[in-house]
Amino acid sequence: MKRYDVIILGGGPSGIITGVTGIKQNPGKKFLMLKEEEKGLIPCGIPYVLHDLNDVDKNAMGPTPFIEAGGEVLVDPVISIDFETKTLKTRSEAEYAYDKLVFATAPVSAMMGNSISTPMFSLIHSSHLM
Ligand SMILES: Cc1cc2nc3c(=O)[nH]c(=O)nc-3n(C[C@H](O)[C@H](O)[C@H](O)COP(=O)(O)OP(=O)(O)OC[C@H]3O[C@@H](n4cnc5c(N)ncnc54)[C@H](O)[C@@H]3O)c2cc1C
Repeated sequence: MKRYDVIILGGGPSGIITGVTGIKQNPGKKFLMLKEEEKGLIPCGIPYVLHDLNDVDKNAMGPTPFIEAGGEVLVDPVISIDFETKTLKTRSEAEYAYDKLVFATAPVSAMMGNSISTPMFSLIHSSHLM
């Protein structure tokens, strides 16, 4: 089983900024980001309002800053977490061990049930929403 110092769940703005900042402040630590989709949408309506985003393809955002900082990225969503053993399982049945785990899965996906199975899931909902 592969082991990482930090595993980040989610590759949106929260995951990317947390990852880049974490790597810069902890050089030498191994960071992994697990995400659902190859590219997400740029999370901002302003380019549409200003009419300078004329192509939907230009609205795709990947985790390039995190990769350039030295992070590893896999498109393989997390389906279960075991907080006791500090391990998690992904949709492709891969298992990873972590020292620190970052939830950057956004409150909306958590509220809608982002299908992560854990006994502490209701607690995670609360912390997301506070
Ligand atoms: C139409 C629209 C317009 C907006 N306009 C603006 C704006 O102009 N300005 C502004 O500041 N904000 C805007 N927002 C809000 C902004 O999008 C959010 O604040 C921002 O995306 C939150 O970032 P995040 O990283 O926390 O979550 P997200 O961007 O939602 O990222 C969470 C990621 O976690 C992934 N994930 C979920 N479950 C799992 C799992 N089990 N395993 C792995 N990955 C998982 C999801 O696929 C997703 O990629 C807008 C939002 C919308 C919908």
